[in-house]
Amino acid sequence: MLYDDFLKKIKQCPFCLPQERIIGKKLSFLTYALAPYHKDHLLVTSKRHAESFLDLGKKERDEMLDLVNLAVRILHSFGYKDCSILGRDGNNAGKSIKHFHFHVIPKVLLGDIDNYRKERKILSQKDIDKTIKKIRAVIKK
Ligand SMILES: [Zn+2]
Repeated sequence: MLYDDFLKKIKQCPFCLPQERIIGKKLSFLTYALAPYHKDHLLVTSKRHAESFLDLGKKERDEMLDLVNLAVRILHSFGYKDCSILGRDGNNAGKSIKHFHFHVIPKVLLGDIDNYRKERKILSQKDIDKTIKKIRAVIKK
């Protein structure tokens, strides 16, 4: 399924729905991207629905940045030496889900990301299981 079709179907914020969160902290969690720019594209967001970076409390921000740090470490463990950390803030920054989140994406140039948007596809359950297994293997070490 194309990501744009998925977006038309959703009725609730996907980050506020119960989901496989991979690494859950008290106020935030790290997860995989359902419609990735890269197969190992990770996301970090708050548990509470906050639409702007400025709506986050200090504890939420601190926890999220710890998880961004962990996400970068996970990608390094996967063998990537380069990654981009992206947070889209505001209505005109190209975000598709209003709930503020950080993207941590290996081997991609930021200029390529928005051009790729129309081609983004939702991951299959098989791909999701593979990604979760890979992340869990790294964080157990
Ligand atoms: Zn939300």
